Amino acid sequence: MFDAVIVGAGAAGLFCAARAGQRGLRVLLVDHADKVAEKIRISGGGRCNFTNRDLDVRAPHRHFVGANPQFCRSALSRFTPADFIALMDRHGIAHHEKHKGQLFADRSAEDIIAMLLAECAAGGVQRWQPCRIGNIAFSASNADGESAGSYQIETDRGTVTARSLVIATGGLSIPKIGATDFGYRLARQFGLPLVERSPGLVPLTFDGAGWQPYAQLAGLALPVEISASAATGSKKERMTFHEDLLFTHRGLSGPAVLQISSYWTPGTPLTINLAPQVDLEAELLAAKARSRKLIANELCQWLPARLADAWVQQDAAWQRPIDQASDKALVQLAHRLSRWEITPTGTEGYKKAEVTLGGVDTKELSQQTMECKSQPGLYFIGEVVDITGWLGGYNFQWAWASAHACAQALPVS
Ligand code: FAD
Repeated sequence: MFDAVIVGAGAAGLFCAARAGQRGLRVLLVDHADKVAEKIRISGGGRCNFTNRDLDVRAPHRHFVGANPQFCRSALSRFTPADFIALMDRHGIAHHEKHKGQLFADRSAEDIIAMLLAECAAGGVQRWQPCRIGNIAFSASNADGESAGSYQIETDRGTVTARSLVIATGGLSIPKIGATDFGYRLARQFGLPLVERSPGLVPLTFDGAGWQPYAQLAGLALPVEISASAATGSKKERMTFHEDLLFTHRGLSGPAVLQISSYWTPGTPLTINLAPQVDLEAELLAAKARSRKLIANELCQWLPARLADAWVQQDAAWQRPIDQASDKALVQLAHRLSRWEITPTGTEGYKKAEVTLGGVDTKELSQQTMECKSQPGLYFIGEVVDITGWLGGYNFQWAWASAHACAQALPVS
C-alpha cells in the first residue's frame, strides 16, 4: 500500500513526488514513456525556460488563461519563482535571464531533470517507467468500513493500492513524446467536468489566395504589436502583445503569434502592426516631401526589405517613387501596414502546440490542495488542469506550484 500513486513523471509529477516523499510519504511515480520528463528536455530550445521573474502572484490573470485564472493564485503564492530559483541554486545549476523575466538553465535542461530525480531519490520515491496503467477503481472504505477510501491501480507490473491518486499526465501537445488524454478520461470516469481542450501557444495557418502574397516571406522575423479580441471567462477583452513575428511556409509563428494563439477565437481576425515603433503615416508623408526614392526603399527604414518589397507588390499605386504617390495611397499603405487584419484558417494543432488550453474544470478542485471536491483522495496537477500560462516559463511555474500545493496536502498514513 502506498500513501500516494502519482501518474505522469513530467514536471508536475516529479516535483510532487519529490516533495511528498520528503514529507515522509510512501510514493510511487508511474509513467508510460520510455524516457523521463521528455518535455522538460525539449523545452526552451533544450535549456528549459523554467520560470519567470515577472510573474505577479496577486494578479495571475495577467499571465494565465482558463475559465477562472484566479484559481492558480493560492498555489502560485505559496510556491513562487524565487522558491524554484532557490532550489536551482542549492543544486548549483547556473541560470540566466533572457527576455521579459524568462529564466533558462545556462547549460542544459538535463540539469533540471537530474535535479528533480535527485530530489525524488532524497524522498525515497519509487519510479516505475516505462509502465502502463490499466483500470483504476476506488473503494470508499475497506471491509471493516473504518479506513479512508483507497485507489486500486492496475499496472503492467501488478495492481497497487494507494490512499491518494495524483494525476499529472499533462496535456495533448506533442503526442509523439507520450502525451495522452489519460487525465481527461480519468476525470470523466469520476464524473468531473472538463473545459473544452484546444491547442495553445501554437503557430497559426492561413490558406488560399489571401495568403499568396506572404507565402514567399517564410523565414522572415520582425518585432510587431499583435492583438485579438479574446473571450476570457465570460468577458470579452482585447489582448495585445509586443513580440517577434515569424513568417512560415504555412502561416505565422514566433512568440507574438504563440502568445495571441491562446486567446484567438477561430473565425476572428488578428490585427498586426508591422512597424509599431513609428507613426508610419506621418513618416511616409514627410518622406514624400524630401525624397525621390521608390516607396519600397523608403519603407526599408522601418521594415525588412523583403517585407517592404512583397508589400508594395499588392497595389500599383505603391510601386513608384514616393514623391509621385498620392497622399491617399500613402495613407492607405501606412494603414495596411500598421493595422494589418488577417484571419487565420486554423492552427498547426497538437503536433506543434506547446500547451493544451482547457482541461479539468477548476470549479471541481480545491485551489489550496488540488484535490477533487467530489472525489476524496483524487488530485489533478499541472497542465491537465484548466490553467494555461503564457509563453515564457509560466507553464513550468504552474507545474511546480500546483505540485507543491498537492504534495503539502497529501495525507501521510
Ligand atoms: P508533462 O510535463 O507533459 O508530463 C506529463 C507526463 O505524463 C509525461 O511524462 C507523459 O509521458 C506522462 N503520461 C501521459 N499519459 C500517460 C499515461 N496514459 N500513462 C502514464 N503516463 C502518462 N513551458 C515553460 O514554462 N517553459 C518552456 O520553456 C516550455 N517549453 C516548451 C517547449 C515545447 C516544445 C513544449 C511542447 C512545451 C513547452 N512548455 C514550456 C510547456 C511545458 O512543457 C508543460 O506545460 C509542462 O511540461 C507541463 O507539465 P506536466 O507535468 O503537467 O505535464
